[in-house]
Amino acid sequence: MSYSKLSFGNTEMAFKAKEDKDLQRSLFLFKMMKQPALVKLLSKAILFSMRIGLPVNRLIKGTIFNQFCGGESIAESTEVISKLSRSHIGAILDYSIEGKEEEADFEQTKAELIKIIAVAKDNPAIPYTSLKLTGLARVSLLEKLGAGTDLNLAEKEECNTFYNRLNEICVAAQLANVPVYFDAEESWIQEAIDVLAERFMEKYNKKKAIVLTTLQMYRWDRLDYLTALIKRAREDSFFIGIKLVRGAYMEKENAHAAQIGSISPIHLLKEETDRDFDKAIDICLENIDIITLCAGTHNESSTMHVIRKMQELSIAPEHPHVFFSQLYGMSDHITYNLANAGYNVTKYLPYGPIKSVIPYLIRRAEENTSIAGQMGRELRMLVEEKKRRSASHLLTT
Ligand SMILES: Cc1cc2nc3c(=O)[nH]c(=O)nc-3n(C[C@H](O)[C@H](O)[C@H](O)COP(=O)(O)OP(=O)(O)OC[C@H]3O[C@@H](n4cnc5c(N)ncnc54)[C@H](O)[C@@H]3O)c2cc1C
Repeated sequence: MSYSKLSFGNTEMAFKAKEDKDLQRSLFLFKMMKQPALVKLLSKAILFSMRIGLPVNRLIKGTIFNQFCGGESIAESTEVISKLSRSHIGAILDYSIEGKEEEADFEQTKAELIKIIAVAKDNPAIPYTSLKLTGLARVSLLEKLGAGTDLNLAEKEECNTFYNRLNEICVAAQLANVPVYFDAEESWIQEAIDVLAERFMEKYNKKKAIVLTTLQMYRWDRLDYLTALIKRAREDSFFIGIKLVRGAYMEKENAHAAQIGSISPIHLLKEETDRDFDKAIDICLENIDIITLCAGTHNESSTMHVIRKMQELSIAPEHPHVFFSQLYGMSDHITYNLANAGYNVTKYLPYGPIKSVIPYLIRRAEENTSIAGQMGRELRMLVEEKKRRSASHLLTT
């Protein structure tokens, strides 16, 4: 199918995996999330209820959890993975544990990541996996590493343990042939992530991209970073894996920069972020011989930009180096219509115990209230599909 024939407006395709009751639940949730004051109030109420031990798990699970997560464990996520796979959509299992600071927690996360890799081995329904470095080491250690601060003896030891932990995961990924994305985080942590991602790409990407890094294009320094990385990869003969995103921590970044009295690393204008995102797509596609690209976006215009550029460069939709990805529970109209047109598409599929994924769920709810246009778009598509189904039920009864 040529890009000119691809349309994201096909709601029947977009929601074909949703039964009527799922569609109804999504409609209810997206209508609620349209009200920022309500989202704030409910977020606080959920956190409070969990703190004092009120039994709200079932309520959360039946609503927002099922909208945005696969399950509480890998096994529980199997149904969603299979459902996606039937529509030719891969799942990127995302173990959504946040805010842990103990070595035992980091070891547990490592074990879980290795388990994902074992499950994903030889399973095309789970083509990639992902990790957050803050799930494997203390934030303040990563900050110190990034800033080049001298470490004391205990910290040096901690750093070695962390490095070995990460290495173990990458070895498992390489042996199982399951590439792993390093997610991007706040800029004061990202320095360390960049150094490690480059080191691991150089080490494990001699034959193909097993380690992939993430570039947040809301940062004004990322195009230069990308160009320098490509130059280094060509000189030192390794493959690069790049997930392009716009970036999730804009408010936090701007507040942090203001607090320390430095220039914000984030573009002033959304248009500048959009421009850099699309420019980075061009650069990656022009270097597709050594780059595996994942366009991690819900933006229709950037998605169309990738498709147009692929066509211009005669890159086939199913080229093994080009992926699209959206978050589970969002922008199904992009995911399902791309998959139907033969492109490689994946959903980031978070899972984990309800209590641990609450911060992720609250972020999704808040994001859906704050992104101008996107929220309205999701809701509009759901309403359209409900109308379409009602009309077709009427026709068939
Ligand atoms: C599969 C996938 C993986 C992801 N992984 C990561 C990750 O590892 N790390 C991470 O940080 N994020 C990640 N994200 C989230 C991502 O960074 C965005 O927050 C989110 O996708 C919204 O951006 P968009 O491209 O979908 O579209 P849009 O809705 O078009 O863009 C919204 C984004 O534009 C940027 N923006 C908005 N206003 C301004 C402004 N005034 N000036 C400058 N920029 C502005 C912000 O980044 C905002 O999030 C991921 C998203 C997806 C879909």
